[in-house]
Amino acid sequence: MIVPVNDADVRRLAKASGVMPARIVGFYGSRHVAFDEESPLWVYTRYGARIMALKRIAGKCRFLSRQGRCRVYAGRPSTCRTFPYEIRFNGASQRPRVERTDWTACQAQAGWVADWDRVLWARHREKREDQRFYRRLRVWEETGTGRTPDLLDFLFD
Ligand code: SF4
Repeated sequence: MIVPVNDADVRRLAKASGVMPARIVGFYGSRHVAFDEESPLWVYTRYGARIMALKRIAGKCRFLSRQGRCRVYAGRPSTCRTFPYEIRFNGASQRPRVERTDWTACQAQAGWVADWDRVLWARHREKREDQRFYRRLRVWEETGTGRTPDLLDFLFD
């Protein structure tokens, strides 16, 4: 599974792990990710549209240990904090609508009860950070070179 991340996620992960952003993320195209074409997560590079996501090694997140545990749990990205739920905010009241993904078997599907305050807090933070991230991607598309190393410099220098 590909885990998209925003720049704030990457900064927190870099701090928690001591790993540089260029080694935390990879850029994945439509062969690897099935996001809607209209999603603002896509960034247009000279190699085509890409999504910035946690780098995978041997098909797994680079932070997954051999024992199947997260090695950066305290600094994990927002997507990992809200998984396996998809949370959208509806209408003027912005009431959260929560759905459980059916992508994978997970403890939550075996009756585990989420700490909803934490899950919703993570989703609110993600929403704010994503809006800023999308704006930065659009600025880079207009002024950048189209090279992903330059995008990393733009986001993290
Ligand atoms: S929870 Fe940890 S190991 Fe799992 S995808 Fe997120 S960062 Fe990677």
